[in-house]
Amino acid sequence: NADLAMYRAKEIGRDALHFFSNDMAISAHEKLRQQEELRRAIACDEFVLHYQPQVDLRTGSVFAVEALIRWKHPERGLLPPGEFIPFAEESGLIGQIGDWTLRAACRQNKAWQDAGLPRLVVSVNVSARQFQEIDWVERVRSALSDSGLDARYLELELTESLIMADVQQAVALMYRLEALGVHLAIDDFGTGYSSLSALKRFPVGRLKIDRSFVQDLPGDADDAAIARAVISLAHTLQLRVIAEGVETREQLEFLREAGCNEIQGFYIGRPVEAAAIEARLNEMEPEGRWPEAGRDRSG
Ligand code: C2E
Ligand code: MG
Ligand code: MG
Ligand code: MG
Repeated sequence: NADLAMYRAKEIGRDALHFFSNDMAISAHEKLRQQEELRRAIACDEFVLHYQPQVDLRTGSVFAVEALIRWKHPERGLLPPGEFIPFAEESGLIGQIGDWTLRAACRQNKAWQDAGLPRLVVSVNVSARQFQEIDWVERVRSALSDSGLDARYLELELTESLIMADVQQAVALMYRLEALGVHLAIDDFGTGYSSLSALKRFPVGRLKIDRSFVQDLPGDADDAAIARAVISLAHTLQLRVIAEGVETREQLEFLREAGCNEIQGFYIGRPVEAAAIEARLNEMEPEGRWPEAGRDRSG
């Protein structure tokens, strides 16, 4: 084992043996290797976006899609974001990957519009590290202008924990993003600790109820109560609310009855490649509907 550690330390060209125990040497090496692999993936354009439809419960039409990244790994196949996004955040590579996602999603949405498909909003997930980058608003602006996508067809999903980490800073950034004309949503809502007073200050258009509160509906009384409470909270603040992770007819019916505006989940459609979304949109009416955005903040 000591030999192995020495071999690995040499292999990566670092005189690390004096500083690390064997295990640490191996794991440091492993980290470097993963970073290298991720860098190569960025350089070789190995990422792909899948898109998951979001449906308006009132009209039944698809009005938005969420862009979800996957890594087409040359040996390990298609990897879900859970297998590389946390590492990308930790190693600082998330900035580049996030830029790629944002730009690819804007370009794809513009291409759909140019092809005459019903107009959709594309939702892009933003990680905390990305959001904290100094020129983040500029990057969003340039993704929009380079793609030619109108800002109102882009939504950024921020998680509750990202926002609550530094409310002051988040609110300031959110207003700058809002000024660009993009929509903002709070993802995984219910898993963090938003105070009502903080929530009131956010210029967001909608809340996404986290899947963990949806999966045991309608049978789980606690989750049913939470879902109803989040829906009524959202409506009190004049926000729309979408439930994620809807897998069954019963969940859909519960949510509809509880007044939830929109749903996303395997019951409606799994995340799929752009071409498969296109096929679905082709069957739709000429204009997808983006429900009246946001609340009135004028008073
Ligand atoms: P999220 O933003 O909450 O996305 C929803 C996740 O739930 C997706 O997993 C989606 O495939 C999954 N999902 C949707 N409907 C259902 C359902 O009915 N049942 C079940 N069991 N799952 C469902 P995915 O694609 O693996 O993404 C996981 C997380 O990775 C996302 O959670 C998001 O936080 C992150 N992520 C995805 N793409 C990106 C990206 O481009 N950038 C960043 N920073 N994070 C991303
Ligand atoms: Mg999301
Ligand atoms: Mg979510
Ligand atoms: Mg439960």
